[in-house]
Amino acid sequence: MPLPPLRSIGSVAVPSRLKASCHCGAVVLELDLPEGIVDARRCNCSMCRRKGAIMGAVPLEGLRVVQGQEALSVYRFNSMTAEHYFCSRCGIYTHHRRRSKPNQFGYNLACLEGIDATLLQDVPVSDGINHMADRRAP
Ligand SMILES: [Zn+2]
Repeated sequence: MPLPPLRSIGSVAVPSRLKASCHCGAVVLELDLPEGIVDARRCNCSMCRRKGAIMGAVPLEGLRVVQGQEALSVYRFNSMTAEHYFCSRCGIYTHHRRRSKPNQFGYNLACLEGIDATLLQDVPVSDGINHMADRRAP
């Protein structure tokens, strides 16, 4: 069951526009979250289970890199479709362009300014290990 959009976490309301940053501060994103945090989840694919991040979803136009584009590195694997961005200085995953929904970015909830993603409980896990794009016709 997907989570409904989260308009607050703990006692903190989620603003409709919010910054997100990596650990060293080189990379800063600006996110439009008019409905709050949409589709918060973890994923069990080979990449995400190592990363362990809780991710939200925004349309492509809802995420802008406002600082540190030059510090961002991108990692691709397997089908080489998804683009996993991380800060090349501090190594923190900030966002990724999805392969299942290329019109969306996923982003790292733990990078959101003023939001404590550790307060989230019962976060759904999407079944990335059995991704549709990996299934072969019988
Ligand atoms: Zn950094």
